[in-house]
Amino acid sequence: MLDPIKLAEFTEKLVCKEGLRKYYSFRPARFYGGISTADCVGCCLRCVFCWSWNIVASPGNYGDFYGPEEVAKRLIRIAEKKGFTQIRLSGNEPTLCWEHLMRVLDQIPGNYLFILETNGVLIGSDESYARELSGYSNLYVRVSLKGTCEDEFSKLTGAIPEGFELQIKALENLVRHNVRGFPACMVSFSPHENREALKKRLKTIHPHFKDFEIEELILYPHVEEKLKKLGISYYSAHRPESIPSEQI
Ligand code: SF4
Repeated sequence: MLDPIKLAEFTEKLVCKEGLRKYYSFRPARFYGGISTADCVGCCLRCVFCWSWNIVASPGNYGDFYGPEEVAKRLIRIAEKKGFTQIRLSGNEPTLCWEHLMRVLDQIPGNYLFILETNGVLIGSDESYARELSGYSNLYVRVSLKGTCEDEFSKLTGAIPEGFELQIKALENLVRHNVRGFPACMVSFSPHENREALKKRLKTIHPHFKDFEIEELILYPHVEEKLKKLGISYYSAHRPESIPSEQI
């Protein structure tokens, strides 16, 4: 079973160098009502339902290195062209290459809302990350929980169960440092009682967190194949009519 912190360290060596980070796409996206998006390369988990699995599995083979100024410039250019007021880093895990992320945030004007989509593992492992994020008033952090409990997390991500505790800890750290954010959770593999237990657990961190955002499985052909191979069953999923060019 993989240790997400060790995997993060290993992956950083492939996707970060001298303040630069690898990205594989800059694009307008329809999510959140329209958002300028930069897709980074590299993650510290291996989710069975990951839509960008090929990139996560072989980070050395995808993307090009960009400095924070260039990333911000491209994001702002797309936002201006499309009339968006929101910007995000997405794709793989944006909190790898932490210093690079901070320098990108420095370059984003306060009139844009910056949405940081993260699995939260690194923010949970080091409270100073949440402290640093509290310095950005135009930031919103969306922590995507992989399952509702330690067992589900481990089965879905291939990581040690303790990784789920880091995801929960990320939410605690963000609340402690007054960073705006919210949990989302992939619930397609979770029985009702586990969802209810998660609600209770999240409510103890912040009363609003019990209404966490629901993420459901999208049954891309490669995901379906993988689930079959691993013998993992799910409670809900939807099949995309066609594979969209812009994804989650
Ligand atoms: S955390 Fe996100 S990018 Fe990383 S493996 Fe899971 S779904 Fe893919």
